Amino acid sequence: DKQERTAAASEVATPKRTKEIIGRYGFSFKKSLGQNFLIDQNILNKIVAAAELDPSKGALEIGPGIGALTQQLAQAAGRVTAVEIDNRLIPILKDVLSENDNVEVVHGDVLKLDLAELIERQFKEMSGVSVVANLPYYVTTPILMKLLEEKLPLEHIVVMIQKEVAERMAAKPGGKAYGSLSVAVQYYCEPKLICTVPHTVFIPQPNVDSAVIKLSLRDKPPVDVKSESYFFRVVQASFAQRRKTITNNLGAFVGKEHREALIELLQGCGIDPARRGETLSLSEFAAVSDALLATGWSD
Ligand code: SAM
Repeated sequence: DKQERTAAASEVATPKRTKEIIGRYGFSFKKSLGQNFLIDQNILNKIVAAAELDPSKGALEIGPGIGALTQQLAQAAGRVTAVEIDNRLIPILKDVLSENDNVEVVHGDVLKLDLAELIERQFKEMSGVSVVANLPYYVTTPILMKLLEEKLPLEHIVVMIQKEVAERMAAKPGGKAYGSLSVAVQYYCEPKLICTVPHTVFIPQPNVDSAVIKLSLRDKPPVDVKSESYFFRVVQASFAQRRKTITNNLGAFVGKEHREALIELLQGCGIDPARRGETLSLSEFAAVSDALLATGWSD
């Protein structure tokens, strides 16, 4: 019995082991749950190294699958909590992780869980907590926005996501990839692309390229704004129609009757009204947001 358990618990991130486990449990992949399992030890090592874990730190994993990354996290961190939505994976995870007594698997939908409470309960004695995951691609943005907007006490978020989404998160003003996602992520974090990942390291292979991104949470935002929610509304509005100027996009937001005054307001912030939203930096958005808030036009 002990021997069987040890066999089940040996590293799962190889094509052979993954296929063997899937076969033994009769598991079938659900595309709708974004199930693409990692089978490459090198990539796992890069993800874990980027998270800067040690035995005093906790790791929160979202979507452990059959536990390939979870096993590595268990070795690097003091405590691991892994949230998995698919109940068919729970017994597999129990077996694969049977030797890792610092891991707890939670069956649930990460979008519905009270993560502040979960983190508080699971990582009380840890000196820091990071999220480390190979995310289900169909819900990448909702998951990341939940982690950021709930202002969870996290050090880093190291995640495998679609390459194109990673590029948008890390994009600087002026490029095509820069948009409201870039502003939102950079308001809360310092992003760093760790590596791009070919689709051949997954079973089954996704149709898109992937990348590992590290988001290090800031102690405080890089810009000061009078109202955070209003700032994000202004940013959203500025990118509403990418081909339009900031004047046209914000004109639609505040009402056409304020167009002339809006142009003056932008000029007052040192912003050429003919520019497009995708050229504005975070501090320029902050200046526009505070100035617009003071007018009361969009109340
Ligand atoms: N970590 C594993 C690996 O790297 O091989 C699996 C990663 S796979 C891309 C995504 C995992 O997230 C799947 O196991 C899927 O069932 C799970 N998942 C999908 N939606 C979820 C949700 N809303 N909450 C928690 N887990 C979810």
